[in-house]
Amino acid sequence: MQQHKKCIVIGGGFGGMAAALRARRKGYAVTLIDRGQRLGGKAQVYQCGPFRHDAGPTVITAPQLFDELFDLFGKRRQDYIEFIPLDLWYRFRFHDGTHFNYGGTLEDTLTEIEAISPEDMEGYKKLLERSKAIYQIGFEQLADQPFHRLSSLIRCIPSMLRLRSDRSVWQLVCRYLKSDKLRQAFSMQPLLVGGNPFDTTSIYNLIHYLERKDGIFFPKGGTGALVDALTQLMLDVGIDIRLQETVSAIRVNKNQRVTGVSTDSKQHFGCDIIIANTDPSHLYQHMLPQHSVKKSAHRKRQQCEKSMGLFVLFFGTKKQFPKVAHHTISLGPRYQALLEDIFQHKTLADDFSLYLHRPTATDPSFAPEGCDSFYALVPVPNLQGGQDWTTIGPILQKKVLENLDDTLLPGCIEQLDHVFYKTPLDFKNEHLCPDGEGFSIAPTFKQSAWFRYHNHAEGPKNLYLVGAGTHPGAGLPGVLCSAKVVDRLLTTVPQHDDSLSNTVIEQAS
Ligand SMILES: Cc1cc2nc3c(=O)[nH]c(=O)nc-3n(C[C@H](O)[C@H](O)[C@H](O)COP(=O)(O)OP(=O)(O)OC[C@H]3O[C@@H](n4cnc5c(N)ncnc54)[C@H](O)[C@@H]3O)c2cc1C
Repeated sequence: MQQHKKCIVIGGGFGGMAAALRARRKGYAVTLIDRGQRLGGKAQVYQCGPFRHDAGPTVITAPQLFDELFDLFGKRRQDYIEFIPLDLWYRFRFHDGTHFNYGGTLEDTLTEIEAISPEDMEGYKKLLERSKAIYQIGFEQLADQPFHRLSSLIRCIPSMLRLRSDRSVWQLVCRYLKSDKLRQAFSMQPLLVGGNPFDTTSIYNLIHYLERKDGIFFPKGGTGALVDALTQLMLDVGIDIRLQETVSAIRVNKNQRVTGVSTDSKQHFGCDIIIANTDPSHLYQHMLPQHSVKKSAHRKRQQCEKSMGLFVLFFGTKKQFPKVAHHTISLGPRYQALLEDIFQHKTLADDFSLYLHRPTATDPSFAPEGCDSFYALVPVPNLQGGQDWTTIGPILQKKVLENLDDTLLPGCIEQLDHVFYKTPLDFKNEHLCPDGEGFSIAPTFKQSAWFRYHNHAEGPKNLYLVGAGTHPGAGLPGVLCSAKVVDRLLTTVPQHDDSLSNTVIEQAS
């Protein structure tokens, strides 16, 4: 009788879910194990009575990467989830109270630029051209290619040199734009993937063209509904999903091959291959026998620079703030110095910048009629800063609410229905991010492509890695591409016959 090949995917973030689907398509019998109560990883959902909050990603770009997952099985993404295109992508609010609306057509953006700095209109067009050239190489040619061999790095060095990938996003933007406000607005994209614009390789400038080319979307029902759609797809194609199980150890035999995993609840699962969607630093330090891990992985773990931490404040209001955009980025009085405090000094400054999410601007189902659902995300130092978040949490909550009450949401404090927050400590405890970082390792030049954690393990031969800490990096397009890389590394095996129970198995808590 044909023995079916078994694949275990550890972690059900977007990278893990995409990898599970791709392995399934390759013919494996797939079991996906996640420690959460529901899949999605950072994309959890909190329900507070009639209010809903998406906890993680809210900006959907590169929709084709989601469509591909459904296409793999001859299905249509539209039959599972609707993507609503946004006209206004982000509204930037500067410290002096002025605004810059970004989105719509190129002409719309040029009109907005003209209002702030007419002399930057030509520069913006050139910046966009530059960003397109970076996209064509960085995204179209490199993002879904394996980078675990030095030869792959050597092959792309000429392109990287041509694109001046050694320059930071900030340096690139400053070559084209003069206005400080516009420089801030067009350089902050690395923060969406955990990087300091002053240190992040300018390859990440491709995000700018990515947004311009395909637009920005919001899934109807929120990112949680997108997770549900992928969960349904996985069930439809026979993937076995185990929730509330934490994989504590990966078994490795003397031939340097993984043979299975053990969980905290003393369950054992055997397999032929493993795809890990856990943080790579945690994986290499805590889940594998140390003798099976190569020196390169130990070195990366010890020397890597982590992304920043996040303080995320969730709240509902008993009235609506209809003038507030779906995505607002409110920039504080300092830009570079604040980023230095967060990334280099790892100190918590008195001032801050924040991103405000108001899903009710697009989708009224997030709150009762006449009410609003919000989250405010504040970049903060990760746990390496040594802050005591149990003390700081309530203080920062008060400061953020007062700031919003003074600026974007006048009177919001009086109108609060509920409020709660997550700190870097929660990221560590809930998702096993070693330093409570929001986006795994930072997207610096020295931690990109071959220098990043490889998708083919630096250890056992049949272990693969996907997710934010691996090539190409964090953000939904990044982690979906990491699954495409692993797809390229897996061989097709004889089809498994759908005999697996296609149910979500929740462990008793
Ligand atoms: C607040 C926030 C806002 C963001 N906004 C955006 C945005 O708007 N757009 C965008 O593109 N990106 C955004 N991002 C980034 C993006 O969400 C992440 O980079 C991406 O979702 C990470 O996916 P991942 O595959 O690495 O898995 P993760 O989401 O990190 O999930 C990994 C899963 O594995 C589980 N796990 C870990 N170890 C084990 C174990 N031993 N056993 C079992 N399970 C385990 C974890 O609990 C988790 O559920 C945001 C991130 C955050 C935190």
